[in-house]
Amino acid sequence: MAVFEYAPAPESRSIVDIQPTYGLFIDGEFTDPRSGESRKTINPATEEVLAEVAEADASDVDVAVQAARRAFETVWGPMRGSDRAKYLFRIARIIQERSRELAVLETIDNGKPIRESRDVDLPLVAAHFFYYAGWADKLAYAGFGPDPKPLGVAGQVIPWNFPLLMLAWKVAPALATGNTVVLKPAETTPLTALAFAQICQQADLPPGVVNIVTGGPATGAALVAHPDVDKVAFTGSTEVGRQIARAVAGTRKRLTLELGGKAANIVFDDAPLDQAVEGIINGIFFNQGHVCCAGSRLLVQESIADELLDRLKRRMATLRVGDPLDKNTDIGAINSAAQLEKIRALSAAGEAEGAQRWSPPCELPDRGYWFPPTLFTGVAQTHRIAREEIFGPVLSVLTFRTPAEAVEKANNTPYGLSAGIWTEKGSRILAIADQLRAGVVWANTFNKFDPTSPFGGYKESGYGREGGRHGLEAYLAQ
Ligand code: NAD
Repeated sequence: MAVFEYAPAPESRSIVDIQPTYGLFIDGEFTDPRSGESRKTINPATEEVLAEVAEADASDVDVAVQAARRAFETVWGPMRGSDRAKYLFRIARIIQERSRELAVLETIDNGKPIRESRDVDLPLVAAHFFYYAGWADKLAYAGFGPDPKPLGVAGQVIPWNFPLLMLAWKVAPALATGNTVVLKPAETTPLTALAFAQICQQADLPPGVVNIVTGGPATGAALVAHPDVDKVAFTGSTEVGRQIARAVAGTRKRLTLELGGKAANIVFDDAPLDQAVEGIINGIFFNQGHVCCAGSRLLVQESIADELLDRLKRRMATLRVGDPLDKNTDIGAINSAAQLEKIRALSAAGEAEGAQRWSPPCELPDRGYWFPPTLFTGVAQTHRIAREEIFGPVLSVLTFRTPAEAVEKANNTPYGLSAGIWTEKGSRILAIADQLRAGVVWANTFNKFDPTSPFGGYKESGYGREGGRHGLEAYLAQ
């Protein structure tokens, strides 16, 4: 059969207008940081410097928290829920109107394929704001008492893998419940958060309701430690989550942690194999595997392992790695040199510990940070690649013989964020899901998200839930 070559299909970046420098967004205005410091953000697909972004220090964070406190006490806290809803609906609509621009900006700053930022991230971002806008005037009916109150100022710290989506998960429920926000985006992906700051201005959101302080770990630590923050919401690594839990311990601050994962994607011998292959691909190669709930451990029933792996390898060979702005690209750039190094080191450890490594033939661009889709077979539960979060396009394959063994292996991890089950039998889905220690269990699908559905972890994957009615609870006093 003839194979057609793909022609390049790049999305134009002319729709985005990146400024050479960005200040901090405090009290409704962009201001120069008191620190006088800045940091470059780059395009990980080309290593091109995109902009110099302010680096907030503790004094900048203090000014932002004060602005948020004023806005909470004078405007946002006392405002009727139905009025807060109007602002949230307005923000949601502006996000939809500017979604192409935001998708291109996200792809340039993060490295993720435009197909994903355009078709997954942005629609979900808008959906989150629409969804929580709907709750703003119905909090009395949410099951948290007849008149639930906001907590006050929320300090929110987010990672780089879904920059604008993680912002939406944090900001939308906080605002809907009447809290004000100081948010710190990740240091490698600040640009869509800064575009969101402009959207807040465009929506006429009262000054101080949303404040964006850019910077690295020290900025995040200053925000978490600020005495006038009432609630800390963090998404990121388990290691930093632990530090934050220690910093908050003994204070009156409320805390939610959304941390790492090492999900088992379990394929039983009666699963529809082609569908399962698509789910495995989506589970680990979506967003270059930079997904906390990625299906990074494939558990396949021994009797079908050879056939499944043949099909999986054939499918992996069709994945297109390269320019994230090309609409045909499946796997974009790794977000940073540091993350690439981590993926390389863990993959090397997998080989050194005796697992077999395979990648399809795949040409990687000369510049930028790239890693080919990779599969490890012969993986033992003791291997680091079976235990540690790689956070890259690397799948570890283990086998099992019985459902009980599948459950035992799936739960044999310090994490518990998500899991997948592939089987034809509904009864088996229910029985296995019941035994898995994971916050989300997908059946015959993977990586499906919806703002109405709560998300969060067991064990070292964190505590608290984001999304759905449950997501309101983290921002309400009871
Ligand atoms: P990270 O923990 O290194 O950084 C996350 C954020 O915390 C960044 O903004 C960073 O600047 C900030 N930070 C770092 N040290 C800090 C400190 N001491 N105090 C306060 N803030 C600090 O994680 P990352 O590498 O950016 O993201 C990847 C990790 O995030 C993965 O482990 C992944 O599983 C996890 N993640 C989890 C979810 C979830 O919902 N559970 C979602 C996305 C990512």
